[in-house]
Amino acid sequence: MIYLDNAATTSVFSEVAEEIAAVMKGSYGNPSSLYGYGLQSRKIVDQSRAKLAKVIGCDPAEVYFTSCGTESNNLAILGSARARRSWGNKILVSGFEHPSVQNTVASLTEEGFEVIVIPPEKDGTVSLERFLQEVDRRTVLVTCMRVNNETGALIDVSKLAREVKEINSRTAFHCDAVQSFMKHQTVLDGSIDTMSMSGHKIHGPKGIGILYVRKGFNLKRTQFGGGQEKGLRSGTENVPYIAGLAKAVERIGSIQQNLKQVKECRDALWQGVCDLPVVVKNSPENSSPYILNLSVLGFRSETLLHFLESREVLVSSGSACSKGEKSHTLEAMNVDGERLDSALRFSFSSLTTREEAEKAALAVREAVSTLERK
Ligand code: PLP
Repeated sequence: MIYLDNAATTSVFSEVAEEIAAVMKGSYGNPSSLYGYGLQSRKIVDQSRAKLAKVIGCDPAEVYFTSCGTESNNLAILGSARARRSWGNKILVSGFEHPSVQNTVASLTEEGFEVIVIPPEKDGTVSLERFLQEVDRRTVLVTCMRVNNETGALIDVSKLAREVKEINSRTAFHCDAVQSFMKHQTVLDGSIDTMSMSGHKIHGPKGIGILYVRKGFNLKRTQFGGGQEKGLRSGTENVPYIAGLAKAVERIGSIQQNLKQVKECRDALWQGVCDLPVVVKNSPENSSPYILNLSVLGFRSETLLHFLESREVLVSSGSACSKGEKSHTLEAMNVDGERLDSALRFSFSSLTTREEAEKAALAVREAVSTLERK
């Protein structure tokens, strides 16, 4: 199989699976226990935290473990907004966020928050100016993703965060970095307050996430219990998956080198199909090479997807969580119905080869010449 749905999830590195099994079998102590078994588990958690902090570019004390990217987004958004409720109620969010951001922000309207959605431009990017125009003294939170999971649109969130803070230094800034973690560096220079990451997009296990929380940042807890993760995220730490995530970042290697390789694959796929008059690119210019979204006009996404599967190429029509529904990002970009109905997302990983990308392009060509138009 040629797996080109890495934005949905990735295969687990065998070294990661081995590490998880070894920790599960050999270090089952509770990290909060005071005897040797506990201390051994605590050491694994601490060492993993230090390794992850190094690649994120922050202090280990700023790394909090959660169960997934969704949980990290929930904690950051609910916790930041509620901690600032006494002086403001306005929240700004881009119009193409993942549901774990969109729905969490929407839920805050029930608590009296006002949500302003900044729609993406027709070309798939977001305008930093449109965000900045809306920031005022009542703005408690601005949230924007680093890489869009459907088109690969790449947003300079560090710049946006800096400029938001220039207008209102008390406004919290959250970034969903689930699709950019270990793929594109994000500068943490004190302007971004919270940032979400997830294990399963980088060949780590599903069910482990990270929330970066800037030192000194006021975040209200949303979960109550035994006080783990400095009281911010109670619950016994998932020691094997924490170790597995640390192993994944070690194994994945250099961001720059992987970018170069993935770009070659993305470009090979695009070069293999771009002369077809029915093919239109939906990913913006200068987007992340990890994602290529295109439409094959006149053919339904689902029909294409199944044809490609019959040729051993796995892709998706929108995001994995939309289960075949139309892409909410393309809808937010206001693309026309025909383009929306025929969209496909190809997403790559550092394990993808150029040969696989070329074969995928041939399979698309075969679909166009074989399938009946709708
Ligand atoms: N944010 C983005 C941009 C994503 O693509 C995803 C997963 O698809 C998530 C958040 C959720 O991450 P998780 O699956 O770890 O909950």
